[in-house]
Amino acid sequence: MTIRANSIQARDIAHVLHPYTNASLHEKIGPLVIARGEGIYVFDDEGNRYIEGSSGLFCASLGFSEERLVEAATRQMRKLPFYHSFGGKTNEPSVELAERLIALAPTPMSKVFFANSGSEANDTAVKLVWYYHNAIGKPQKKKIISRIRAYHGVTVASASLTGLPNNHRDFDLPIARILHTECPGFYRFGLPGESEEAFVPRCVRSPEDLIEREGADTIGAFFAEPIMVSGGCIVPPPTYYEKIQAVLKKHDILLIADEVICGFGRTGAMFGCETFGIEPDMISMAKQLSAAYQPISALMINEKIYRAIVSESATIGTFGHGFTYGGHPVPAAVALETLRIYEERDIVGHVRRVAPAFEDGLKKLGQHPIVGEARGKGQGDTQEFRPGGRGRRLCRPAGAGAWGAHAVPRRQRQPMPAAHHH
Ligand code: PMP
Repeated sequence: MTIRANSIQARDIAHVLHPYTNASLHEKIGPLVIARGEGIYVFDDEGNRYIEGSSGLFCASLGFSEERLVEAATRQMRKLPFYHSFGGKTNEPSVELAERLIALAPTPMSKVFFANSGSEANDTAVKLVWYYHNAIGKPQKKKIISRIRAYHGVTVASASLTGLPNNHRDFDLPIARILHTECPGFYRFGLPGESEEAFVPRCVRSPEDLIEREGADTIGAFFAEPIMVSGGCIVPPPTYYEKIQAVLKKHDILLIADEVICGFGRTGAMFGCETFGIEPDMISMAKQLSAAYQPISALMINEKIYRAIVSESATIGTFGHGFTYGGHPVPAAVALETLRIYEERDIVGHVRRVAPAFEDGLKKLGQHPIVGEARGKGQGDTQEFRPGGRGRRLCRPAGAGAWGAHAVPRRQRQPMPAAHHH
């Protein structure tokens, strides 16, 4: 493709560093310019229309032209376009949003901490695992277990939790005290001849062995996405979470649920925790929280964690953590309106109603010879392609991990890396 001088494409190549993009290839082929959105569609700068099958990194749950969200943002911008929450300041939309989220929480939660991205919410959770254990006089209990193929973000701590090689390679990650255990994806990680029933105990034994090897008094927390989406839409087998939670309880290890993708209806319940019977101490969320019309994330913490913060900040004199834009009134107002719309339109019920047809269609496609496995839950499903034969080898470049069909624009010749759709 020839790139016209001074076109948006040329200016992009000259000035923009793209996330999750092969920079060398990008210099040659340039970007795809998305010019506008309407309903479930996005349009490029030449007017080509695409179905955004995974709603843009699982974000635009209400599509691309929801006027009520535009109005909510505009109203709030006119009234109070920004304020921070440091030093005890607050604003009405963030208070109301926190109240709503606590009411929606799948298990009893005490407080909401606002940030701007999933990574920041997860980094905050990591810091709170450490802060909490210092506060309760267990300063050795700091290691955190995540899972191979997990995706928890890209900041230093959250990228360390992420269990995908390209997020570590040459970034000198993971940092110390982050450990990775077995991934509960049977299709890929089951052994030849192993049944799913035999696979589950092995998945549970693996962190158990790790905890015993390292010493339970050194393990502070376990991180889990209810469904591991970016790692390939991995739906854990039934009983997996029940068994994992028994191990964590036995060793007094905190559980953090990363609901950044699963939250707000994706699995057919408000939170993935409800779908899988997970009872976490902290929950991170973002994306569909505001239908992504404004960047906002949140970390909910339970009373136990909060009490530790109260005592530790009394000792230190402050809780020394916070983002300038955390609790920003505009994204908070948009998130509130988003939650109102979810309720009024019964979005979670809608997911439950359309999921069977969606899953049926997926299963039919799953019979195609190039598909190794079709799997999913609610409005989140994937096809894992196999490169030929019967192997479970990951197919590159167009393999696992799309929830629904991705918009694959004609000109977008850079593949989304397999198992890396988020
Ligand atoms: N957690 C999960 C489960 C995610 O899927 C993602 C992003 N796709 C993140 C965390 C990181 O969120 P962000 O890109 O907003 O930092």
